[in-house]
Amino acid sequence: MRVLNCISCGKIFEPIINTKICPICVKADEERLSRIKSHLYDYPDASLESVSDILEIDREKIISFIKSGKLEHISHMSIQCENCDTAIESGKYCDECIIEMRTSFKSVTNSISNDADKPKSKGMFTKRK
Ligand SMILES: [Zn+2]
Ligand SMILES: [Zn+2]
Repeated sequence: MRVLNCISCGKIFEPIINTKICPICVKADEERLSRIKSHLYDYPDASLESVSDILEIDREKIISFIKSGKLEHISHMSIQCENCDTAIESGKYCDECIIEMRTSFKSVTNSISNDADKPKSKGMFTKRK
């Protein structure tokens, strides 16, 4: 049985599914998420800063919820495109980068199907898995 160090709390755990976070932290995240959601339900205009302050949840945590699609974007907050740092409202990339990625993704898949055996140099959008 392989074990992993939880990237969140550092404890060793046995991953049942493909995850880097232990069940305890997953639970804690779910609990945070539901607190954020109920807070936003009561205060739909709450900013990221106020949610973070009042609930004592890291801004990074909240942003990661939004980026992973678990949480809708909070009004008055902006997050940044991971590629070019343009302010965006939701997701990971700005519209321009998404268009650019679609284009380059197409060309990557084309070149893969053309010569499948040659490893391609890492593109700028493939750094995260
Ligand atoms: Zn953990
Ligand atoms: Zn961008």
